[in-house]
Amino acid sequence: DDSYDEECDYLFKAVLIGDSAVGKSNLLSRFSRDEFRLDSKPTIGVEFAYRNIRVGDKLIKAQIWDTAGQERFRAITSSYYRGALGAMLVYDITRRATFDNVKKWLHELREFGSSDMVVVLIGNKSDISHLREVEEDDGKNFAEAEALYFMETSALENLNVEESFMQMITRIHEIAS
Ligand code: GDP
Ligand code: MG
Repeated sequence: DDSYDEECDYLFKAVLIGDSAVGKSNLLSRFSRDEFRLDSKPTIGVEFAYRNIRVGDKLIKAQIWDTAGQERFRAITSSYYRGALGAMLVYDITRRATFDNVKKWLHELREFGSSDMVVVLIGNKSDISHLREVEEDDGKNFAEAEALYFMETSALENLNVEESFMQMITRIHEIAS
């Protein structure tokens, strides 16, 4: 049911943020097209993807923006966040620094984004948990303290990807309707 001109009841914008190479683009391609790439091609060209989702009797078109390789702080402009009702803030469970930077991303999100944005914290790459540098509880506790949703995912093995996007989208729908 991905046809472009299908009638939709709501159009939601959501954004992906987080350090470079944490898996944002692969999470998005997994969610929107069920695709994964092993080579790390920085995002070029396509800056957002759509997916239509049915929630109850409503058809929601989720428009999800990707950073197009501009993950340096302050490189993302306020227009990226403008109108966004949701955000997926992604770190890599095998690189502690990407988790430490979550604070900075959240700060930027709260500076530029709307205050009632639904934010899901994502610890990605759960398939290589033998290389883990961030305990699941660290992610969970941080999310709880900051009132974020939280999930560990694997874009590679397609674990919790659908669930995490759907959590964000259904929550946005609850707030917006
Ligand atoms: P982005 O810069 O945040 O958009 O990250 P990418 O989606 O380009 O992914 C960066 C690298 O991590 C690529 O080599 C991907 O193949 C790899 N990657 C992404 N998601 C996962 C995952 O869930 N598990 C593993 N093992 N590798 C992943
Ligand atoms: Mg990318």
